[in-house]
Amino acid sequence: MPKKIFLSSPHMSDEGYEMEYINEAFETNWIAPLGKNVDEFEKEFANYVGIGHAAALSSGTAAIHLALKAAGVGQGDIVLCQSLTFSATANPIIYQNAIPVFIDSDATTWNMDPNLLEQALIKYKDKAKAVLIVHLYGLSADLDPIVELCQKYNVTLIEDAAESLGTFYKGKHTGTFGQYGIFSFNGNKIITTSGGGMLVSNDQERIAKTRFWATQARDIARHYQHSELGFNYRMSNICAGIGRGQLKVLNKRVAKKQYIYNYYKKELGQLPGISFMPINDFNTSNCWLSCLTIDPDQKVKPLDIMLYLEEHNIESRPIWKPMHLQPFFKEYDYLGSGVSDYLFDNGLCLPSDTKMTDADLQRVCDLIKE
Ligand SMILES: *Cc1c(COP(=O)(O)O)cnc(C)c1O
Repeated sequence: MPKKIFLSSPHMSDEGYEMEYINEAFETNWIAPLGKNVDEFEKEFANYVGIGHAAALSSGTAAIHLALKAAGVGQGDIVLCQSLTFSATANPIIYQNAIPVFIDSDATTWNMDPNLLEQALIKYKDKAKAVLIVHLYGLSADLDPIVELCQKYNVTLIEDAAESLGTFYKGKHTGTFGQYGIFSFNGNKIITTSGGGMLVSNDQERIAKTRFWATQARDIARHYQHSELGFNYRMSNICAGIGRGQLKVLNKRVAKKQYIYNYYKKELGQLPGISFMPINDFNTSNCWLSCLTIDPDQKVKPLDIMLYLEEHNIESRPIWKPMHLQPFFKEYDYLGSGVSDYLFDNGLCLPSDTKMTDADLQRVCDLIKE
């Protein structure tokens, strides 16, 4: 069997930065969900994306949950949520006993369609409390019209930037346009802490409140006293040490992901019926995964390619299955024009692992050409 090629796997620094921070935590016995690595990771991360404040949490999902809570989303409120995404975007809406309404993507960004968003804001006037957009695969949504709509209709904008660390919109980092942005450091993301997440905002008071909720909402008292519902959502000092080391190589990882995208595009872009994911002029993409669609009138389907690559020990995936097609979410309203259905039916995520060599990339391209 030839060497396994992964979709996107953890890639620690060659320099061993992560181990230095982990060793420091061991030597000082800060093996806990607090400590210097947590505090420093928050500061370094906030600096990198260019925002005031950050709270390091146990996962990106926890970050979305606390962003919704910080935005005041509760029982019966409506959250307008991008349909084309991973379920982790939408699940926290249910944790808060709120109601998701799913919005389709547009073909130019693969992310939330601003026209459909406005329709939904009109339809759910007064009940819509927040808008939850996603920057899928490192493609940025078209933020200007979305930010404008959220201001016009007075709803909180939350950006799920789990896949877009290192992605900029008109020179400003994704995840910093809304009131809240969230990031993920799961094992498959562009950098990883094995598992973890970050909530960012320019609102210092809300971020402080988030840290409070994430540590069981312990009131300031000698005894254990709680005036609010709490969660155990803080990032561990060990994981934060991995994150600090990974942050030092983030720009290298972005450069390699972009290289992979350009390699595929050059090799495969001319094949009949193939279209690569759209990288717009306003978007400097981290190219987290290189994705394409195959015209439905072609004989070869994405599944044929996935199965063929799998036979050669190479991992690839379909595009996310939209939330409005998920059995769990089927009862909720959906405003759509068919774009996310099309992307799900005809899309393919190519292996985009930063450890891939040119020979690996060429092997994948040759198999697809076959
Ligand atoms: C990975 C991911 C999440 C969840 O992050 P976790 O850290 O795994 O909880 C949320 N949204 C999107 C779009 C993701 O890709």
